[in-house]
Amino acid sequence: MRVLENISELFGIQGMEIERIVEEDDSSVTLHLGRSEDAQWSCPACHSLNVICYDHAPERQIRDLSIWDRICRLAFRPARVKCRACGAVSTERLSWMEANQHQTLRFERRLVLLCEKMTAKEASEFEMIDRDATYRIERRWLERVESGWTPEVVSKLGIDEIAIRKGHNYATVFYDLAKKEVVGMVEGRKAADCSKFLKGWDKERRGKVEAVCMDMWEGYHKSVSKLCPNASIVFDKFHVSKYFHNALDKVRQHEQALASNEDGKMLKGTRWLWHKPELSPKQRRTLRGIMAVNKPLFKAYLMVEDFEMLYKCESIEAAALYLKDVVRRFRCSHLEPFKKLGKSLRTWRDGILNYFKHPVSNAAAEGLNNKIKVIKRRSYGFRDFEYFRLKVLQCAGSLPSVANAYPL
Ligand SMILES: [Zn+2]
Repeated sequence: MRVLENISELFGIQGMEIERIVEEDDSSVTLHLGRSEDAQWSCPACHSLNVICYDHAPERQIRDLSIWDRICRLAFRPARVKCRACGAVSTERLSWMEANQHQTLRFERRLVLLCEKMTAKEASEFEMIDRDATYRIERRWLERVESGWTPEVVSKLGIDEIAIRKGHNYATVFYDLAKKEVVGMVEGRKAADCSKFLKGWDKERRGKVEAVCMDMWEGYHKSVSKLCPNASIVFDKFHVSKYFHNALDKVRQHEQALASNEDGKMLKGTRWLWHKPELSPKQRRTLRGIMAVNKPLFKAYLMVEDFEMLYKCESIEAAALYLKDVVRRFRCSHLEPFKKLGKSLRTWRDGILNYFKHPVSNAAAEGLNNKIKVIKRRSYGFRDFEYFRLKVLQCAGSLPSVANAYPL
C-alpha cells in the first residue's frame, strides 16, 4: 500500500486519501477516497472546530483533473456533521470544491484558464466536458472575479452604441479612451440604460470623469450631464462628420434625380468618391468635371471640406468664430440639407467646441468594437447577455485573469 500512500500525498486533497483506483469500462479512472487520519471538520455555519461527524451522505462522483489523459473522477461520501457550538446539523463544506458542483475547483480553474486562451467550445473538447457545463463554470468564475475587482478611475470616457442582434437591438459600450479599453457594457441605448452603468460608479468616481466623448444621441447626453457633473461632453468628430457627408449625399441624390441624361451619366457610380479622404488623380478629375457643371454639388463639397478644417483651429476661441461662420454660410446656402444642418450645428455647438478643451475621439472604439464582434460570435450566441458582457470585459477590458478567483 506504500504506492497508494505516495499517490495520496501527490494527489494533494486535504483530509482525504486514495483507498482504491478503478479503471472503468470507458477507460476513465475513479479514485475512491476515504478520510485520512488528520481529517478535521468545521461547522459550515459558525466555523467552530467543535463538531462531530455523525453520518455520511450517499456517494458522490466528482470530476477532477485528468490523469494520464484519462477522465478522472473522485468517489467519496460527504460527512454530515453536528456542531457542538451552535447546534447546526449540516453536510461538511469542502475547501477544494464549491457546494453543489460536480467538479473540483482545480479542475474548474484549469478549464476557465483554457477559456482565456481559446474558445469555450475548444476548451470543452480539450477537457472532455459538456459545453453547457463549461459555460456555467466560466460564468461563475468570471462573476467572482468581477465581484472582487475595483476598476481604475476613468478620466476620459467614451460612449458608443453597437448593434448586437439583427434588427434593432443595441448595447451601449463604455470605453476608457486613455487606456483604449472597454470598461462596461449595458443592453439598450436609452438614457436609463446609460445611467444604469454610470450609477454603478459612486459619486466620487463619477466626479473624476473630465470628458465624455459620444455622438449627438440625446439619451447619452441627458444621462451624462446628470450623473457626471464635472465632465465636458465632447461630440465625437467622426460622428459629426458623418452628418456632413449625409447632407452631401442628399445633395448628390437630389442633383442626380434632376440631371439631364448627359449629366446623369457623369454622376452615376460616383457615390463613394464624394466621401473618400484620399483620391487618385483620375478620381479627382472626375469630381472636378462634375463640379464644373454642377454648382450645388460644388458648393456642398466645399462646405464639407470647410467644416473639416474646423478641427485644424488652434484654440477654442478661433474654433468658435470659425464655427459661427460655417453656420452662417450653411444657412444661406440654398441647399436644404445644409440649411438643416446649420440649425443642428447651433444646438451641437458646445459639444463640438469642447473638443478644443479635450481633444478626444472614439476612434479607439472602432477597433474594440471589432473585437467585441469576435467575442460575440464565440460567446455562446446570445442566450446570456451577462456572460457576453463579462467576456467583453475580460478580452477587451481589464478584468483580471480568473487564475486567482478562488483560493486553491
Ligand atoms: Zn456551528
